[in-house]
Amino acid sequence: MRESMASRGLDCLLVSSRENLRYLFGFTGSNGCAVLTQDEAVFMTDPRYDEQSRSEVVGCEVCVTTTALWGLAASRLGTCGVRTAGFEAEAMTVATLSALESHAKGKAPDIVLVPVQQLVETVRAVKDEYEIAAISSASRLVDGAIEHARSIAQVGMTERALAWEIERWLREHGSGPMPFPPIVASGPHCAHPHATPCDIEFCCGDPVLIDIGAVVDGYCSDLSRTLFVGEPNGTIAGVYATVLAAQHAAMSGIRSGMNAVDADALAREVVRDSGYGEAFGHGLGHGVGLAIHERPTVSSLSKDVLVDGMVFTIEPGIYLPGVGGVRIEDTVVLRGSEVQTLTRSEKRNPVCTTC
Ligand code: ZN
Repeated sequence: MRESMASRGLDCLLVSSRENLRYLFGFTGSNGCAVLTQDEAVFMTDPRYDEQSRSEVVGCEVCVTTTALWGLAASRLGTCGVRTAGFEAEAMTVATLSALESHAKGKAPDIVLVPVQQLVETVRAVKDEYEIAAISSASRLVDGAIEHARSIAQVGMTERALAWEIERWLREHGSGPMPFPPIVASGPHCAHPHATPCDIEFCCGDPVLIDIGAVVDGYCSDLSRTLFVGEPNGTIAGVYATVLAAQHAAMSGIRSGMNAVDADALAREVVRDSGYGEAFGHGLGHGVGLAIHERPTVSSLSKDVLVDGMVFTIEPGIYLPGVGGVRIEDTVVLRGSEVQTLTRSEKRNPVCTTC
């Protein structure tokens, strides 16, 4: 991080993103900030996290204060001899920034505050073995939850009922709080890529699109499967085959060093060649780690380059208003220049029940 700060001309970074505080210092609580310079690191929190921060936070001085955290941070900026301090623009509200600026006016009048983006996030994009193991464990959980969904999904069940069954299964089998509410959509409702489960009942032949995540040791997994309750009609079966082929094209073609935009194109070309190009409106995937969506971005707009150690999703989808939709998503890791899947649920045979 210090090399990265220096390369951007920063002699200090104010860290306030929850995920970044956890990544850099080990803190898992909800309120804290850190002042990181080339010579020192100070973590600050309030008394609710006194004992917790002293056991969790490593490599860092810990200050617990009953006064305003950003006031303490500003005092530190004033005494540690730095001139240029970056703050995390994506984790800082306008209100917090204005409080920081007014504290700094009195306590560190010469400091220049610079908004920075994706500084820690760029380091976080490449995972170590500990992180990959945690994401693998979270992947086992979503695989198990889909297996459970396959065994209970049937005609007449509602989206809401299946979503709750999946969430309950995940929590009972060790997942932390859901990284996002499970998505379960059926029939024409599957045309909404991020549908909210409602009281729609599954009908014979319906696609049932399920998108779920689990959390282990703070690390997420992300998985989508489209199941069928009974045999699907020809249109939606064709769509499923196209999405599966698109996902395969990306999985087998992605290499270390490839631009993310080219990875996206591998799948997008298959969808376009089938005539559904307009119906694949989102990017191919996103990084997964302490956050459910993080670097790298795998889309037609991305500037990221994929390298070994990155964990991300590959999730092409086709959505046809009034008809339905299909998304197939796996969490993968790039290793030895090849894609290895961390989620491994069945996808060759999506029909999970007869009717
Ligand atoms: Zn996803």
